Amino acid sequence: MKKIAFFCIPAHGHTNPMLPVAEELVGRGNVVRFYSFNEFEKKITATGAEFVSCDSYLPKLTKQEELGLKNVSTTEMTIQDIRITLNMEAFLDKEFKVFCPDVVYTDSVCFWGKLNAWKHNVPMVVSTSTFAFNRQSAQYMRNSLKELADIIFGLPRISRELKKLKPYGYPVESVLSLIQSDNKTDSVVYASRRFQPYAESFSEHYIFVGPSVFSKAKPNKDKARPLVYISMGTVINDRRDFYGKCIEALRGENVDVIISCGNAVDCGAFGALPENVQIYPYVNQLDALSRADAFITHCGMNSVSESLYMATPLLLYPQTGEQRAVARRTVEMGAGVMLTDDSVGGIRSAVREILNNDKYRTAAEECSADFRSCRGAAGAAEFIENAPHFDVDL
Ligand code: UDP
Repeated sequence: MKKIAFFCIPAHGHTNPMLPVAEELVGRGNVVRFYSFNEFEKKITATGAEFVSCDSYLPKLTKQEELGLKNVSTTEMTIQDIRITLNMEAFLDKEFKVFCPDVVYTDSVCFWGKLNAWKHNVPMVVSTSTFAFNRQSAQYMRNSLKELADIIFGLPRISRELKKLKPYGYPVESVLSLIQSDNKTDSVVYASRRFQPYAESFSEHYIFVGPSVFSKAKPNKDKARPLVYISMGTVINDRRDFYGKCIEALRGENVDVIISCGNAVDCGAFGALPENVQIYPYVNQLDALSRADAFITHCGMNSVSESLYMATPLLLYPQTGEQRAVARRTVEMGAGVMLTDDSVGGIRSAVREILNNDKYRTAAEECSADFRSCRGAAGAAEFIENAPHFDVDL
């Protein structure tokens, strides 16, 4: 039995894959204490882990900072990450002394998890909710000019904030040392070796466990007419314009449509919906994907992995550099097409292409078989229990 401290940033995409791992570790007799945020309390306690609320350490945001976070600005996310770490310093210092974890399992961009593991000399395993990125796999990332400008012009602000960590004994060299994947850090990646770009370039400190999902459901596509599921994820999902175009594109088509539009968009804002369209703020995505025949997605790593797990081909509509990397890899797998024309007509013909051409479904089925042959949460749990992993030639 081990005591394992879980740390994650307040984001569904980062928290979700850690949950089945927590449940597996608890089931194997370990004590898991999960430092997270009230929004996730229910999901976390359902795994049997002990939930510790960190909401009171979230900084008060100005309007501009709020907007930056909403737009997934790397600078703003990094700065808030550092501020939360500073706010939690005394609290976590005490927690590490009282709980005395044997292992820390932390999200790859959760600075307070990583920095406290280093400071308190506790073996650390990193949870990587995207692809693992090194020099080779980073070629898949195509940042937009706006994203590049945000990173370049944000660097002086980030360095100023980083300096504030040093007096508390946090070992920080650079922001890169905090966020990059390196070949010495024990890391769990929720991709199969086949799906991860340049998997062979990562050391044995990496374990590629495939998607970490709760559902044991098998894909079941038997129904009267095809189902198209649409979601832009849980972060940049305030896309009323896009949902409106999807509704128009699929009105009168011989398909059923389910849209998950998030909380920022009013489901009633679309007026009378066509008989074949249903729209909700949030759905059980794994359930929808197990039945869906096409998924229009923003290409978050979890969404794409869940879709392929459920053998559902994808229409890829990425919005960020990281999402473009996931989209590109999905195209290479043959399981999706890029939505390059997001007009009503463009969406309609791309959906028809996915539904009428069997090669996408066949490729998605191959990915599903590959993902289901991975070790998943059980593999991740065993890897965490056995950390640190020294026996590697570097
Ligand atoms: N999700 C869900 N229901 C919804 C929308 C999203 O369960 O209606 C889940 C989805 O299954 C996935 C996560 O939220 O696990 C979204 O993560 P992803 O990495 O795809 O995108 P992000 O939200 O981080 O941009």
